Amino acid sequence: MEHVTSVAAMRSKADEMRREGKRIGFVPTMGYLHEGHLDLARTLRPLCDCVVVSIFVNPSQFGPGEDLQRYPRDLERDSNLAEDAGCDLLFVPTAEEMYPAGARTWVTVEGLGAVLEGAFRPTHFRGVATVVTMLFNIVKPHMAAFGQKDAQQALIIRRMVRDLHMDVELCIVPTRREADGLAMSSRNTYLSGSERNEALAISRSLRIAREAFAAGEHRVAALRERMTEELTATGALLLDYLAFVDAETLEDVTTIDDRPVLVAIAARIGTTRLIDNTILGEQAFAQ
Ligand code: AMP
Repeated sequence: MEHVTSVAAMRSKADEMRREGKRIGFVPTMGYLHEGHLDLARTLRPLCDCVVVSIFVNPSQFGPGEDLQRYPRDLERDSNLAEDAGCDLLFVPTAEEMYPAGARTWVTVEGLGAVLEGAFRPTHFRGVATVVTMLFNIVKPHMAAFGQKDAQQALIIRRMVRDLHMDVELCIVPTRREADGLAMSSRNTYLSGSERNEALAISRSLRIAREAFAAGEHRVAALRERMTEELTATGALLLDYLAFVDAETLEDVTTIDDRPVLVAIAARIGTTRLIDNTILGEQAFAQ
């Protein structure tokens, strides 16, 4: 598997592949790869001639006091995992080249980027939308894959691609979980043994909501109460939010009637912040 670090080299590689009529699939990541990331690559593998994975811990999507410095990094491990998953090229740019001195252009998806995660991380989605735009311009993919684990991010990228007429087809891939339900995340490495146990309340509460919904409970207040009970049982978990929102518009809902609803959680355990989500009514209200 080829490693490319400079923007110019990645660009000419992409141009060459396009000239040869090859379809480029792209998986943007911040590295410290896990099976969730690899699922994205595996989804694109049969659909593309070349699968590019980028590894870039993007400074502009971290706020002051967040975990930019301590974010886990291990390029050798990532390289082996990506190769085993069938990736063809690893793009590992530097922050200096991605953000040259004087850069002052941002991509902002209004509204969708201000709620949920955006309310707690005000500059986060601006950083995400901007870096994904840069990466699309450099890697020139035909297709790109994103995880449902970051549901709001997936929605924002989808809207950005539509609004800016970007010529990229998106694949949104289901959340990969550990056997006990914990959503895979590079940040899980921060958790101590007991914190990891406590974190399971997040996926358990989402399962409780799915089961209650399937059994006919469509009132958000009732679902919220059952979930909150589970989330607060040990007192170890600090909830940033538990939100029930329209899965397309991200507007708050009070009942789950005729459109899919995103149930999204952000919680802190010690110094680690985790997010997870599920969609209720996706099949029931499929258009
Ligand atoms: P990150 O490295 O956290 O920026 O994530 C890179 C991509 O992998 C994003 O599109 C994420 O949504 C996706 N991703 C992260 N965790 C998971 C997971 N557990 N299952 C599926 N996709 C994931």
